[in-house]
Amino acid sequence: MSNECKTIHEFDFNLICEYFSNVERQGPGSPEVTIKALGFIDNLTTESRIADLGCGTGGQTMTLAQNTPGQITGLDLFPDFINIFNRNARTLGLSGRVKGIVGSMQETLPFEKESVDLIWSEGAIYNIGFERGLNEWRQYLKKDGYIAVSEASWFTAERPAEIYDYWMAHYTEIDTIPNKVAQMQNAGYIPVATFILPENCWTEHYFAPCCKMQQAFREKHRGNKAAEELILSERHEMELYHRYKEFYGYVFYIGKKL
Ligand code: SAH
Repeated sequence: MSNECKTIHEFDFNLICEYFSNVERQGPGSPEVTIKALGFIDNLTTESRIADLGCGTGGQTMTLAQNTPGQITGLDLFPDFINIFNRNARTLGLSGRVKGIVGSMQETLPFEKESVDLIWSEGAIYNIGFERGLNEWRQYLKKDGYIAVSEASWFTAERPAEIYDYWMAHYTEIDTIPNKVAQMQNAGYIPVATFILPENCWTEHYFAPCCKMQQAFREKHRGNKAAEELILSERHEMELYHRYKEFYGYVFYIGKKL
């Protein structure tokens, strides 16, 4: 398909994909935090089935694979991310038990009911919403199986209008930690643990690599308005985080299916 045939939306989609293909993570997180969350999950064996939904290029999936036994399936909407994911798995000698597949969490997932021991999803459940994800994904888990997701959350009961408005424009399901825990409990899980991701998950592991890559991206797409806008919106997200980080951030929620 030639560029002329593409809608602006499709073109933006490709740009976003290219932008994030160049960084190790597509959202806040770190290997230390993945390992910490994994520490709340027991009973994994070489027979275990793990699904990483919205896996991106697999930064966290490879950390998972290196720290737990079992077969891991990463699922993401973007084929380019999955290609990088599978290349990374091969490079790390993990391709025997780590496979990336293209798919959408908007659709029925390609897993049997009650077949998965652990569902993982870092910074991605927001694509269908926290409550919907918890409710729909539960059917794929075995009894006593675990879910571990990271999700944008408010840290305080009140917050300044500027950051509230920003989030309402981007993700209205952002909520306080107690409200999210109640949603997890109501969806049929024991809330095993929650913890706030430390600041370096944003600064060192997410924003810094993005900043480093932005210059080359800007040069490659010089004069392209959509590329400029993408960089500006990423910069804005960064500035807001620095200004309002005591009011919000990412939180890991770990639950066990009843
Ligand atoms: N887990 C990764 C990526 C988080 S970014 C990390 O922490 O680095 C969110 C991811 O969700 C992106 O990779 C995006 O491609 C993916 N995504 C968006 N909509 C999706 C959908 N409908 N189904 C599956 N993945 C989706």
